[in-house]
Amino acid sequence: MRLEAELVYESCPYCCESRVDYLVWQEDDETVLCLSCGKTYRPGEHK
Ligand SMILES: [Zn+2]
Repeated sequence: MRLEAELVYESCPYCCESRVDYLVWQEDDETVLCLSCGKTYRPGEHK
C-alpha cells in the first residue's frame, strides 16, 4: 500500500517529518505547517 493521499503530504524539508498528523495544510492551500519543527513550507508538487 502506497501512502499517496489526494493531498500531497511531502515530508518536511527541515526535519523530515512525514507523519500526516504533524503536517497541517494552511488556509491558502499551498503551505504546510510542520508541527514538529514549527516551520512552514510549500510541497513541490502542489500547483
Ligand atoms: Zn519540520
